[in-house]
Amino acid sequence: MIIFDLKCADRDHRFEGWFGSSQDFAEQQARGFLECPLCGSKNITKAAMAPNLGRKGNQEPVAAKPAEQESESRAAPVSSKVSVPTEYQVLMGKLAKAQEKMLANSEWVGDRFAARARDIHYGDADEKPIHGTASQEEVADLADEGIAALPLPLPVLPPKSKN
Ligand SMILES: [Zn+2]
Repeated sequence: MIIFDLKCADRDHRFEGWFGSSQDFAEQQARGFLECPLCGSKNITKAAMAPNLGRKGNQEPVAAKPAEQESESRAAPVSSKVSVPTEYQVLMGKLAKAQEKMLANSEWVGDRFAARARDIHYGDADEKPIHGTASQEEVADLADEGIAALPLPLPVLPPKSKN
């Protein structure tokens, strides 16, 4: 085994590659098998030869295989390239319309929802549909008092911020 300190010419990342021989390295380099584990660049050159040949340990060769794991873990959290299925878009569109319809005659009461819902429930305010925001605690308290609060499927913008 021979260890080379490699670097990608694009971003100057340093990493180690283990090879059977320097011939082996040259071959892999020529075929474009080498890949920077940090940025995926295939523009790999030798940085300097590590002096300790036959180093102990069971490290896997880094550059002999393209760094699949690395590129997977880089790709996973990225969602911008995820394509949203058409059914989902259609469904969300329908849901948004349904919610809009449902709230057409409802009054936005913002974070005073719990108080207003109580007023209506106890007859201190006219009976009419309202919607607003409430904490989970408030919703639980309302439920204890027998006042139902329906969670809306989609977030609602306060009317003022719609402008
Ligand atoms: Zn790199």
